[in-house]
Amino acid sequence: MSLSSMDRRCKPAGEIHVIVGPMFAGKTTALLRRIKSESNSGRNVAMIKSSKDTRYANDSLVTHDGLKFPCWALPDLSSFQHKLGDDAYLKILSTDFMSWKMLETHVTGLLLIDVICIDEAQFFDDLYDFCCKAADHDEKTIIVAGLDGDYLRRSFGSVLDIIPPADTITKLTARSELCGKRAFFTLRKTVGTQTELIGGSDVYMPVCRQHYINGQVVMEAARSVLESCKVQPDSHADFAAVANIYVILDFYFIAI
Ligand SMILES: [Zn+2]
Repeated sequence: MSLSSMDRRCKPAGEIHVIVGPMFAGKTTALLRRIKSESNSGRNVAMIKSSKDTRYANDSLVTHDGLKFPCWALPDLSSFQHKLGDDAYLKILSTDFMSWKMLETHVTGLLLIDVICIDEAQFFDDLYDFCCKAADHDEKTIIVAGLDGDYLRRSFGSVLDIIPPADTITKLTARSELCGKRAFFTLRKTVGTQTELIGGSDVYMPVCRQHYINGQVVMEAARSVLESCKVQPDSHADFAAVANIYVILDFYFIAI
């Protein structure tokens, strides 16, 4: 069999597109723009976000500048198909006299979706398996947006794992909050050290390389002082020490 005749017999292929960058780089806005474009082309789009992020309404995706789109808030991606199935199941139960055509439409609900958008992808551990299956076998176009690095610029979740099977990768930048230059990194303004700390501009700021390096030095110094005082930021054990740290940090972030 020639290659061209094999090509003709192949099913239409799916696609994987990845949008990464620091916080406040407009990743969700870029995702919503893609949704609008895909919808305008007549394709059915489903949007998924992590149920870990409860800062905004659970059933909609909201950008930092207030744009909204309905979505599924899920703990993991594998539950997407189950959830779609469950919903179809409930609808079938509640409509005994549903026609076979409608029944078929509900049962094969996933097949009707052409494009699956995933926001805050760093929170989904099953990202690689889900994207590969959906694109390679289910003919879906997958558009993923997420942080490529955490506040220490280490790989965050599974986002970098889907670079090899992706069709395109876009790295967006923000504006450094301290100097206005292009920002590639996210600086955490609080002393907590857990990798996942969900927050907005109260906790994070986009920064250029130089301000990232300077900011990390200041934050490490603050953490060391707190550690030496054996003070937890949330405790009332030594309020004065904690208050002093925050005065220093405020001074740094305002003065630089
Ligand atoms: Zn800067």
